[in-house]
Amino acid sequence: MDRSFTAMVIDTVDGKPKGLFKDLSIGDLPDYDVLVEIAYSALNYKDGLAITGKGRIARRMPMIGGIDLAGTVLESRSPKWQPGDKVILNGWGLSETEWGAYARYQRVKAEWLIPLPEAFSMQEAMAIGTAGYTSALCVDALEKWGSIKPGEGEVLVTGAAGGVGSVAIALLCAQGYNVTASTGRPQTHEYLAMLGATGFIDRATLQEKGPPLQKERWTGGIDSVGSDTLVNALAQTVRGGAIVACGLAGGADLNGTVMPHILRSVTLIGMDSVVAPLEQRLAAWKRLARDLDKEKLNKMTTVEPMSKLPQLAEDIIAGKIRGRVVIDVA
Ligand code: NDP
Repeated sequence: MDRSFTAMVIDTVDGKPKGLFKDLSIGDLPDYDVLVEIAYSALNYKDGLAITGKGRIARRMPMIGGIDLAGTVLESRSPKWQPGDKVILNGWGLSETEWGAYARYQRVKAEWLIPLPEAFSMQEAMAIGTAGYTSALCVDALEKWGSIKPGEGEVLVTGAAGGVGSVAIALLCAQGYNVTASTGRPQTHEYLAMLGATGFIDRATLQEKGPPLQKERWTGGIDSVGSDTLVNALAQTVRGGAIVACGLAGGADLNGTVMPHILRSVTLIGMDSVVAPLEQRLAAWKRLARDLDKEKLNKMTTVEPMSKLPQLAEDIIAGKIRGRVVIDVA
């Protein structure tokens, strides 16, 4: 079988990485065990960094972009998968060290795939994608830490109208947590309230330099912004509380003090979804299947063709995307 298809490929242009459309065929793909016919991928912040070249995501060129896929197994040399199986893949270095999902076909390692959860269609699974699955990992981590209790205190979600933020709010609210959304877009308040947020703060207030210990407010939090936002979130966290850091939409620096940690036992939990072990992935998808309201998921999702990726990549880096974008690779 050697069909040709168009892929979004990150390559070097004028000395910098940039996403370009290129025609490839199945024979060009890596020699991994499972050939997947991809139905949908997604747009994540990291995809935006890779395509625009504003972040060095691809570690070798040329690199097919796209960190998420949902599709059907066409061929398999692994006993784990049979032709016709519906599968998803999140992370595992796709678009970084391994060819990714912005293509009709891809060959991948058998152990990177998980079955498409029964609760979701392929399009819904990609509406969740890495952003949503990471939100579920973050909620799992907060609950495991034990500082948040349904109905008690406030849980902070930063970057609220983005992909991670939107799914995090929906998941937390489904379990009865009181969520305060930090956003720079007041026009999204109605949307965030629809997802379940009951409190709102202007993200600018979390970006001002503040004292190392501030009024205790958050029992927990999920932060996709980083930098001063994370420093202030920690400084406002109650004794024994925890914030999960998973993103850098506002900056990768962390110029804070140890005060919240040594005087209030505040914990900073890190989250990397890319190489999360299978058990954690399955638990996160189980939470998503149980707690993510389909109507809310629908309202946070738009579906776009691959041809729009260059513009969408600019938009996500500029903080203009609300919720999640599914990419139809057909
Ligand atoms: P989105 O662009 O969808 O969401 C990011 C949100 O952050 C925006 O919608 C905006 O929310 C806010 N924001 C954007 N720019 C700024 C800024 N300059 N200052 C402050 N806030 C800003 O991206 P994703 O949800 O896909 O990803 C969010 C972050 O999480 C990214 O850094 C991404 O790389 C990271 N991530 C990490 C993962 C991991 O495994 N650790 C997995 C998935 C994502 P608003 O308009 O509401 O203020």
